[in-house]
Amino acid sequence: MPRIHVLPEILASQVAAGEVVERPSSVVKELMENSLDAGAREILIEIERGGTALIRITDDGCGMERDDALLSLERHATSKLRSSSDLNNILTLGFRGEALPSIASVSRFRLITRERESLDGTEIQVSGGKIMDVRAAGCAPGTMIEIKQLFYNIPARRKFLKADSTEASHVEHEIRLHALAAPTVRFRYRRDGSEVLELPAVSRKNDRLRHLLGVESAGELIEIPQHHGNGFSVEGFLLPASHARKGRKHQCVFLNGRPIEDIAIARGLNEGFRGGLMEGLHPAAWLWIDMEANLVDVNVHPAKREVRFHRSHELREGISSAVALALLKQQRRAVPQSQQSISAATGEVRSMVPRPIEAPSSPNIAMAHDLPIPHWTSHEVQEQMPLAPEPLESKPKATQGAAAFRWIGLLHQRFAILESHDGLVLFDPRAARERIVYEQLLQAPQRGIASQGLLVPLLIELDPREVDAVMRNQDRFTTAGLELGDFGGGTLQIRSLPAFLHLTDPREFVHDVIDDLIAGGTAGSALAYDKLARLLAKRAGLQEIITDASAQKWLEELFTCDLPYCAADGRPTLTEFSLRELDRRFGYR
Ligand code: ADP
Ligand code: MG
Repeated sequence: MPRIHVLPEILASQVAAGEVVERPSSVVKELMENSLDAGAREILIEIERGGTALIRITDDGCGMERDDALLSLERHATSKLRSSSDLNNILTLGFRGEALPSIASVSRFRLITRERESLDGTEIQVSGGKIMDVRAAGCAPGTMIEIKQLFYNIPARRKFLKADSTEASHVEHEIRLHALAAPTVRFRYRRDGSEVLELPAVSRKNDRLRHLLGVESAGELIEIPQHHGNGFSVEGFLLPASHARKGRKHQCVFLNGRPIEDIAIARGLNEGFRGGLMEGLHPAAWLWIDMEANLVDVNVHPAKREVRFHRSHELREGISSAVALALLKQQRRAVPQSQQSISAATGEVRSMVPRPIEAPSSPNIAMAHDLPIPHWTSHEVQEQMPLAPEPLESKPKATQGAAAFRWIGLLHQRFAILESHDGLVLFDPRAARERIVYEQLLQAPQRGIASQGLLVPLLIELDPREVDAVMRNQDRFTTAGLELGDFGGGTLQIRSLPAFLHLTDPREFVHDVIDDLIAGGTAGSALAYDKLARLLAKRAGLQEIITDASAQKWLEELFTCDLPYCAADGRPTLTEFSLRELDRRFGYR
């Protein structure tokens, strides 16, 4: 065996770079973290050719004096850690003192930095880890770091880089992540000379997220109100189950301002949907977690992407309940205005039972039927969480379909009560109908859809903006079996309807869909077909009158759907209360 020797400094840095600097996006990540740690209010990121030719990060942070700037390029040099006890209490994004020397050892590197109080700044040039030049420089307070020709001296690494566009998309992902982690900082991103992102500093995470998401998805965000656990708190946003995807790219988790990936958190998110997600799909979610620093070890991964929680199950459960609660609140809000009344005295929103069929159809009478919402959707959901419905996702039931349930009956012409093999199931026939209609409409572009022409076309009076919104989507409406035409003078003509809908009031139906179209804030542009299908399905579900026969039919049909456990917008179609849970409620355990 050859003799053991200590690696020369530069070689050691290159070895460390192997872990820390995988591709341009990792450089951008490390440098943004340094800027954030330096208290920057504004960060400019520029790249050329996917970051392989140039990466430049400019910040207005605290800057460094000459000696510190030189020291920052040495291995294990950091201003963020002094004693080993600090390791249990890390509040900065960096602490390993490895990034700068690693990056500088595999590139042509230039650093210009100035402390606010200093008269002048310092410029250092490094090539492949060797300091080439140090001089005084005039510059604005803050730090600029420029990396040219990444991996120029490590051809093996360079070969592994993907197309410039792929590398650039990794860079952008990293920037978006950090921009979400630090909304109060302004971020600008330029790629090959053109501006890609310009994110003003905002005080609310919500606003940063909206900037990044685009109007359409932003309109669907479901807020996860702050949830307090033992030594941590969590808050954030979700998109409905219909946005769930196979991968977890749409999940962003920030722990004390650090983007992380963690499987327990991901599971907690899925569990929060209580069976409303198809197996293998993951919801789009953004979570900000604040945790006492001593409850988590961030020093387990060279790129600090993974962490170790001391009480991971508590966090997972906390996230799961926070998500479930958010979805329940959203569900309550989804009950249309006509079925909600707001009690002025208590400010409490209550959902109402739809009118029984035989009842006179005066809205005042309907108000008299105002009933409290089921207790687990009341304002005190948090206290009531033990009775939160349990996931209905086990496979055997899905394959048995409706046969897995014994029909008991309707509850207030609104929900159905079923018996499952281990408890009580509540079924929402309206949500089921919505799912069934949605999936049929989704198939329309490929398979076509039977459309029923009206003998006498129906006319609806609209304002010009509404007519315009409809006409922009005319093709998509036609695909869905709904032929609409501009009759002139602000009148819209309904010529045919999807045959399978059997609408009780087509005019009201179309009117409501148009209202939704406008309320969705997308009036100015054409809506994606699946979004339009969702609107149509929702309104079709709401028009249905629920009877024993129709509800039973939909329960059967529901299990022919691809995603039987949620409506088009992710609301559950079925929720289960297990016998064990009921036993506990009645004091048997
Ligand atoms: P770490 O961030 O783990 O401390 P780095 O190698 O990334 O290690 O940076 C080394 C040190 O250089 C930091 O601790 C910090 O003091 C200083 N530094 C790096 N980047 C900046 C910056 N943009 N502004 C001010 N100081 C910086
Ligand atoms: Mg660092």
